[in-house]
Amino acid sequence: MRSVYLDNNATTQVDPAVVERMNDYFGENFGNASSVHSFGQRARAGLEEARRQVASLIDASPAEIIFTGGGTEADNLAIKGVALARQEKGKHLITSRIEHPAVLRTCESLERDGFEVTYLDVGSDGAVDPGQLEQSLRDDTILVSIMFANNETGVIQPVEEMAPLVRERGIYFHCDAVQGVAKASLPVDRFPVDLLSISAHKFHGPKGVGALYVRKGTPLQPQMLGGSHERRMRAGTENVPAIVGFGQACQLAAERMEDFVRRVSILRDRLENGILNAIEGVRVNGAGQRRLPHVTNISFEGIEGEALLVALDFQGIAVSTGAACASGSISPSHVLAAMGLPDRWIRGSIRFSLSRLTTEEEIDYVLDVLPGIVQRMREMAVSSSS
Ligand code: PLP
Repeated sequence: MRSVYLDNNATTQVDPAVVERMNDYFGENFGNASSVHSFGQRARAGLEEARRQVASLIDASPAEIIFTGGGTEADNLAIKGVALARQEKGKHLITSRIEHPAVLRTCESLERDGFEVTYLDVGSDGAVDPGQLEQSLRDDTILVSIMFANNETGVIQPVEEMAPLVRERGIYFHCDAVQGVAKASLPVDRFPVDLLSISAHKFHGPKGVGALYVRKGTPLQPQMLGGSHERRMRAGTENVPAIVGFGQACQLAAERMEDFVRRVSILRDRLENGILNAIEGVRVNGAGQRRLPHVTNISFEGIEGEALLVALDFQGIAVSTGAACASGSISPSHVLAAMGLPDRWIRGSIRFSLSRLTTEEEIDYVLDVLPGIVQRMREMAVSSSS
């Protein structure tokens, strides 16, 4: 049976060059990067090389990169770190309803600790409105956290427009760019945010490692206490093999980004148009908006997304319904709900996310099998209700 992986927003296959680089640091370069002897120095050299590679992908300075245990930790550190460092100035934060749980749950925990959070709505296009953000800013607002691109729809948020409105008032701007880094060019000299979250496993790096970019001068209270690692911002012995793999993935992403965007958007459009042409009663969620080049979120009327996912899996095709972190629970996607999609469209939604490894043959295989599956599922639904 064929095997087609179209769930790259959940995670990606680790690049062999990344594995090879990591193996050196599981093997002879196994030292603790804080040790003074030569074993430690070799590990430290790998760590600092990785810091330069990560920084270079977003045109930051290496001193502005803090390694974390992934995107979730970077989001927690950014939001709690700034909120706690700035609480004397005010206790109001702003985010949006379509953020990843790593941001939403962190904001909710701050609310329990006496902070106030405004959750911005999105339009039916899936994007936050900069005008609404501006109206929500207050004298006691200390931080705004808006994602670069949504993980379920791929819709790109107008961060370039919003961040200057926020920062000119002395308010800090955090951007969860976990789904955007390596897919879009995000140079922090022109992409004006104060903090930016990155996760390696979304672009062919290892899981459980990421980084928070912190613009020089941004106040941040560490959330993990202990030794003086990461300039005292994140205590704990660094996971050197994962970090060097992360660095390697960043370098490969920088080299391949242009080619990735060009190739993958052609394949995504082929998939999207093929589905729209062959199947009635479908809609592309976030269509017409600026979107990531490799994602499409499609609702199939009269279909349960979970059932379609399982049927596709039987044909060797891996997709997702909404966010991977939310699958297993049957609560409908908070992102599509925030876009005002009726429940029946939300329940029938599937996310296809491609990668640089996706081929035209794989897309054509999906287009071969999907219409028949959808038709059979609709016929079964009609016969069981009659
Ligand atoms: N933010 C977004 C937008 C994501 O899509 C994800 C993962 O799916 C995360 C944060 C969490 O990243 P990690 O899996 O590295 O903890």
